[in-house]
Amino acid sequence: MIELTDKVAIVTGGSRGIGSAISSELAKNGVKVVVNYRSDVDAANHVVEEVKVAGGEAIAVKADVSHSEDVSELIETTLSKFGQIDFLINNAGITKDRTFKKLSREDWDQVINVNLNSVYNTISAALPYLLESESGRIVNISSIIGQTGGFGQTNYSAAKAGLIGYTKSLALELARKQVTVNAVCPGFIETEMVQEMPDKVREQIIASVPVQRLGQAQEIARSVLFLCKDGEYITGQQLNINGGLYM
Ligand code: NDP
Repeated sequence: MIELTDKVAIVTGGSRGIGSAISSELAKNGVKVVVNYRSDVDAANHVVEEVKVAGGEAIAVKADVSHSEDVSELIETTLSKFGQIDFLINNAGITKDRTFKKLSREDWDQVINVNLNSVYNTISAALPYLLESESGRIVNISSIIGQTGGFGQTNYSAAKAGLIGYTKSLALELARKQVTVNAVCPGFIETEMVQEMPDKVREQIIASVPVQRLGQAQEIARSVLFLCKDGEYITGQQLNINGGLYM
C-alpha cells in the first residue's frame, strides 16, 4: 500500500461519467487531480468544485487527447501546477455505433483516435515523469466490448481490444521500472453513454447481467483507486467489473 497524499493523477475525460467518479474518488483520498475534458468546461469545473468542497485539490484542463499537441499542453500544465505525475488514468472515450455496412471511414477513425491513439499520445508524453515517480501507475479504461465484441461496435471493440493488448505489452516493458500498467474493463455502467441507448436495449442488457443491474461509476472508480493505492504487485491485468456478464 502506498501513501496517496502528494501523489498527482491525470484523469482523461475526467469531467463526466466514470471519469468524474474516478477524479472524485482519487481526490477524496488525497491525490491531486488534473480533470481533463474536451468540450464541457462546466462539467469539469463542477468536478473541481466538488473536490474542493471535500477538502481536496484539483484543476480542470482542456485537451483533446486525440491531438498530440493538446496532450503536450496537458502535461506541461500538470507539471507547472503540481510538479510531478504519478498516476495516468486513460479514461476518455467515445462511441459511434453503426453496423459495419453503415460505418463511415470517419466513424472508424474518430473512435480509434479517441479511444486508442490517444493512449499513445498521453503515455508517450507522460512516461518520463511516471518513470521518475516511485509508484507510477497507468490505468487504461477498456471495456467488456473489447473482450466479447458488440453488435454495431466494430470500431469501438477494435479500439478497446487494442487497449488490452497494449496494456499487457507495456506492462512487460515497464515492470522493472516500478510502473504498473493495467486495464479496467467495465461492463454496462449507468452513465450518459448507456443512458443514450433505447429503453428496450437497456432492459435487455439488465436482464442479461447475472447481478441484474447496471454498474455504477463509483464501482469503477473504487477499482482504479485500488490499483493506484494497493497495486504494486498487479501489472498487465484486465480487471473485469461487469456484474458477471463476462467471466
Ligand atoms: P461519458 O460519455 O459519460 O464521458 C466521456 C468523457 O470523456 C467526458 O468527460 C468527455 O469530455 C471526455 N472525452 C470525450 N472525448 C474526449 C477527447 N477527445 N479528449 C478528452 N476528453 C474526451 O463516458 P463514460 O463515463 O460512460 O465512459 C468513460 C470510459 O469508460 C470510456 O473510455 C468508455 O469507453 C468506457 N466504458 C464505459 C462504459 C459504460 O457503460 N458507460 C462501459 C465500458 C467502458 P467532454 O464532455 O468535455 O467531451
